[in-house]
Amino acid sequence: MLQLCVSITDWKGQNWLMRIDLHTHSRVSDGTDSPTELVAAAARARLDVVALTDHDTMAGVAEAHSAGENFGVRVVGGLELTCQYEDVTVHLLGYGCRSDDSALSGALQELRDGRDDRVPKVVAALNAAGVEISADDIKASARPGATLGRPHVADALVALGVVSDRQQAFDRWLDIGRPGYIGHYKVPLAEGVAMITGAGGVAVLAHPWGRESRSVLTADVIGGLAAEGLDGLEVDHQLHDADTRATLRALAGECGLIPTGSSDYHGTGKVDHDLGCNITPDSSFEAIQGMVSQRVTLLGTPPGT
Ligand code: AMP
Ligand code: ZN
Ligand code: FE
Ligand code: FE
Repeated sequence: MLQLCVSITDWKGQNWLMRIDLHTHSRVSDGTDSPTELVAAAARARLDVVALTDHDTMAGVAEAHSAGENFGVRVVGGLELTCQYEDVTVHLLGYGCRSDDSALSGALQELRDGRDDRVPKVVAALNAAGVEISADDIKASARPGATLGRPHVADALVALGVVSDRQQAFDRWLDIGRPGYIGHYKVPLAEGVAMITGAGGVAVLAHPWGRESRSVLTADVIGGLAAEGLDGLEVDHQLHDADTRATLRALAGECGLIPTGSSDYHGTGKVDHDLGCNITPDSSFEAIQGMVSQRVTLLGTPPGT
């Protein structure tokens, strides 16, 4: 008789029985779904587990957790922390962090304040380049309280008819080196790892060899970060081609880092990042869960749970 429930195991013994996506964005940052809509979409995409990892905030996690109970999807609370290594932006995923941790909450507030302060500077830079746009145009494209990012500027440029979509806005105006690019405060990477793990969470480097972070995150640097407390490496990501994934998977193995795979879903805000387009092996998720419960035990149970 045929087995109904087939466990697919690859040559390294990784197990893919569940569909686990550990990197998604709601409109609490720069995605286009509410946390509830995102979890509903995760159920339609037949995900067993989804992590909400909005940029520099965990404000959507409580709503996502309740939606998870309604839709039968296990929700992991997370965030994507904006960090810096040398002078390059690096994204760091954090899972299971306590929301009452003062060091992490303080850093998240500083990051969001820095993003708010950037808005008038972006407006001035775009105006100087001949694009008529106001701070109100940008704020109108985000929900109140959302982490403001360049995708909101991109949406405003689309609404004003300056460009046709987010990608064109980045290519012409917002990418590094383009007229509307303005930096903002970022957390030094080593501090980011310490902050996430200090808050009881698990720290995973997001798309390490996607975009500019590839230039600074060499194998040696990643090995050094692993020795200093980094827990995992996002191997399967749309910004990584097949060779990059193979090299990163081997590197994760050598450094004792947990390999993950995820979509980086942004709703309609990013094409080719559908929920479940990359998934995390069961064994990696189990390792993450084990670390979170170990660290929670060390720190004590969070209040209200
Ligand atoms: P920010 O937080 O303002 O730096 O914006 C980060 C967001 O912009 C993330 O969702 C990135 O995936 C997206 N992003 C960054 N660079 C690009 C690019 N060149 N093209 C499209 N999206 C990008
Ligand atoms: Zn984003
Ligand atoms: Fe990212
Ligand atoms: Fe992301």
